[in-house]
Amino acid sequence: MKYREVLMTPQKRIALIAHDNKKDELLAWARFNRGTLSQHKLYATGTTGEILERELHLPIVKLESGPLGGDQQIGAKIAEGAIDFLIFFWDPLEPLPHDPDVKALLRIAVVWNIPVACNWASADFLISSPLMHEEYRRLVPDYSAYRERLKVKE
Ligand code: PGA
Repeated sequence: MKYREVLMTPQKRIALIAHDNKKDELLAWARFNRGTLSQHKLYATGTTGEILERELHLPIVKLESGPLGGDQQIGAKIAEGAIDFLIFFWDPLEPLPHDPDVKALLRIAVVWNIPVACNWASADFLISSPLMHEEYRRLVPDYSAYRERLKVKE
């Protein structure tokens, strides 16, 4: 497999999402890490973003609420290279109407090899990495052969 490098600048573009039963956890985590988060560009699904913005007084780009398409908007931004970091506290104990969107978002995060944390401990390890403040050249599989696979040969 060939790879290409995608540059992640010292200022990361971080998406934050929490399902309703996990919003308190994400808020506590974000409060503790407010100083670090303030150095990056933040995105969130609608309700998560409103809570974080109100409680932390940090600017956050708020997308649609998750069940109304917000998870998919974040996935699209990952695919177009506009978001490069995902903190996603999803609820493992409750089925949700947008479960397919959750799976799709986690899948697209793997496709583009972005750092993902789905629980408090992982988020702690990620955010305390020295790479949070450095340039990082992320290796992404070179999908050009896949894109070309059905092109008619001249
Ligand atoms: P919300 O969406 O931030 O609008 O609550 C989160 C989700 O359920 O994906």
